[in-house]
Amino acid sequence: MRIAERVYLVGSGKFGMELSEPTDCNVYLLDGGEECALIDAGGGLEPERIEAHIEASGFRMERVRTLVLTHAHADHAAGAAYFQKTYGMKVIAAAEAAPWLEGGDMDKTSLRHAQRGGVYPPGFVFPPCPVARTVREGDEIAIGDLTLRVIDSPGHARGHICLLWEEGGQRSLFAGDTVFAGGKVVIQYIWDCRIDEYAATLAKLHALGADRLFPGHGPFLLARAHAHIERAHACFERLEVPPNL
Ligand SMILES: [Zn+2]
Repeated sequence: MRIAERVYLVGSGKFGMELSEPTDCNVYLLDGGEECALIDAGGGLEPERIEAHIEASGFRMERVRTLVLTHAHADHAAGAAYFQKTYGMKVIAAAEAAPWLEGGDMDKTSLRHAQRGGVYPPGFVFPPCPVARTVREGDEIAIGDLTLRVIDSPGHARGHICLLWEEGGQRSLFAGDTVFAGGKVVIQYIWDCRIDEYAATLAKLHALGADRLFPGHGPFLLARAHAHIERAHACFERLEVPPNL
């Protein structure tokens, strides 16, 4: 589904638009012309539904060469192995998260914890996925004729990156699970969720002055994203914690 010029929503689960399998995060396709990229991979329970949306949007799977993961939580990354194996997509992730993805680490990805808490189906095993390239703050990722800038953004989880895309005077932020419409956040009782790091990340994202926000769950914003990010940042500035999604 086309949601903006060169941006398509091809997956979204129960905390979003119910477009694909319920555990899926929002999965975006970026059209770089000659080649395309996916931002996040969904939960891996029914990746064929994401595939169907890619094709229904008019893209052959072979054109999607790159998969960028914002972080290693299963709802974003457990689908990566399927796309890597089936289509040879080049998987890009934060340097810190790469070993957890490659090892299918049930603890570092908090999947075991999520299953204990009943927020992920029991018995599901994280499918290990080779990472072709690791990135960190300031790195650039070229997708055809467009460029994404990597922003290290811990707080919700370690090994989390956001991606900034600037074109035609528009700043678009692919925010993963850092900040959502309405200035909401996702703070969870998991090993690597840290409020101090979350606040620092929000200050950094606020300073970007983003126009558009494409978050990992819930609605996306096509203008005035900075006003929403400001709400979360302002909460942290008052030493409060922003509301959870
Ligand atoms: Zn997450």
